[in-house]
Amino acid sequence: MNINKMVISGKERKLELGAILCKYCGCLIGTIPTNGVKKFYGVCQSEPCQQLAKGGH
Ligand SMILES: [Zn+2]
Repeated sequence: MNINKMVISGKERKLELGAILCKYCGCLIGTIPTNGVKKFYGVCQSEPCQQLAKGGH
């Protein structure tokens, strides 16, 4: 069927993906498929953010 091809080629900008952002530095950690565009927050692998995530003062 041609429908699948049209969907793929039409998905250049409107990706229905949830973006996982680092809540400390705001960098993009990854994406997960969601129903609609959403944002999630996690902690990236960088050392300052890992330190903050541990709650160390
Ligand atoms: Zn970070």
